[in-house]
Amino acid sequence: MADKATRGGGAAVTSEKAAGATSVRRPDQADMGWEYAPAPESREIVSIAREYGLFVNGEFSPAQGSKTFATVNPATEEPLARVALAGGRDVDRAVSAARTAYEQVWGPMPGAERAKYLYRIARILQERSREFAVLESIDNGKPIKETRDVDIPLAAAHFFYYAGWADKLDYAGFGPQPRSLGVAGQVIPWNFPLLMAAWKLAPALAAGNTCVLKPAETTPLSALLLAEVCQQAELPPGVVNVLTGAGDTGAAVVAHPGVDKVAFTGSTEVGIAIAEAIAGTGKKLTLELGGKAANVVFDDAPVEQAIEGIVNGIFFNQGHVCCAGSRLLVQESVAEHVVDRLRRRLATLRLGDPLDKNTDIGAINSRQQLDKITELSAAGEAEGAHRWSPPCELPKKGYWFAPTVFTGVSQSHRIAREEIFGPVLSVLTFRTPEEAVTKANNTPYGLSAGVWTEKGSRILWMAQKMRAGVVWANTYNRFDPASPFGGYRESGFGREGGRHGLAAYLDV
Ligand code: NDP
Repeated sequence: MADKATRGGGAAVTSEKAAGATSVRRPDQADMGWEYAPAPESREIVSIAREYGLFVNGEFSPAQGSKTFATVNPATEEPLARVALAGGRDVDRAVSAARTAYEQVWGPMPGAERAKYLYRIARILQERSREFAVLESIDNGKPIKETRDVDIPLAAAHFFYYAGWADKLDYAGFGPQPRSLGVAGQVIPWNFPLLMAAWKLAPALAAGNTCVLKPAETTPLSALLLAEVCQQAELPPGVVNVLTGAGDTGAAVVAHPGVDKVAFTGSTEVGIAIAEAIAGTGKKLTLELGGKAANVVFDDAPVEQAIEGIVNGIFFNQGHVCCAGSRLLVQESVAEHVVDRLRRRLATLRLGDPLDKNTDIGAINSRQQLDKITELSAAGEAEGAHRWSPPCELPKKGYWFAPTVFTGVSQSHRIAREEIFGPVLSVLTFRTPEEAVTKANNTPYGLSAGVWTEKGSRILWMAQKMRAGVVWANTYNRFDPASPFGGYRESGFGREGGRHGLAAYLDV
């Protein structure tokens, strides 16, 4: 993609070069004269091909006209592979393969048999989890401890969970013998590439549908490795098809007349375009879009736990999280203390090589995303908010952005209204619970929210008042395959996960 080093945010510092990346030296470590030794995960377990084809009808094949695009490592800007760019004829091929597999094999197959394939995929994901974790970190830029401990185990858990439903659809509460829909066209983003593929594929397959999946342009490799897993599991050809490409490929998948169901995760803008494109076609649609979640801290909250929740809420996955707690609402009486503790905690975060097991903050996924974060942060300063980052030197190559906190933010600031999708926190204050609710709901989004308080009654009151699909209490960013996830208003509609996630793929 890009050919020049790009840097954003951040201030000067004490730092040391570790293998291929910069690790941030904590001020207390510097005083003591010691530094974390690098703990790099080996790349050897992953073999990345020079070129990848499209996965259609159980085989890899070139795109029409042999068109390809490059995928790069965002931490180093090193080109990783060339990947097939699917065009209109490829979409025809994939949809036709999915239709044939639906009518002849997967649709008629008893649920108990479908379940065996899903269990097999889940087990192979577990067996090859280290390989997936390393590949995902290289292609996405996220830290290995997150891919290893979150993305890959949760992806396997989704296949396990929905495998359990495949032969129990009659008892899922949708009436006897609920029918599958047919061919699902699924478009996913780059922030959790494998996990989003699992969220889409597992319920669709369990319910008896076949799939055409379009991964994001900047992170195609784990979906292609998942395609290999489908081969390894001997999934019948055409049940899962993976079409790599850009936005045009996604648009062609969702608009294809042979697609019965569309599932999309990504920006609100593209979600609206998709809803318009398929309006009146009768296709069933679920949209999981952006967010601007409020993470509300009351004066009786356990502060140290809340600090961990705030950090996890906005700095997990470099803030590339639709449900990120990007607006921190703190009760005025404790605001100064909370912000002070937060700053001290942020000074201990380690930014650098995503493959280093010590790394907390990895690379921004693309130059385009870095530009967006840089632009919105500049707008925050220009509009009068106070910007702060811990001492943090950014690596010379790759796309990086220092963890950033804005205080003195008002509700009209762009950084309080727009989804930044980066490691940038906006801090606002409130005095009363009513004011907290009003401010939390002052957004066109409605995906998630957090509440920190020791009072159970207040948690329940807040959860009822806040317009968000998910409300976490005294925790944040918790995911479980059995728990439905989704939003209101500009955050989309439909639910993924749990029994509710099945409804999106059944004619109910
Ligand atoms: P997009 O919504 O553009 O991309 C999501 C997926 O949709 C990608 O696979 C993309 O392909 C594809 N796509 C793009 N245009 C179309 C179209 N017209 N029809 C069908 N599919 C399409 O997100 P971006 O990656 O461009 O990110 C932009 C912003 O969106 C981010 O800054 C962030 O704010 C937000 N975002 C929110 C996410 C969420 O989960 N809420 C996830 C990702 C982004 P391609 O990769 O080739 O563009």
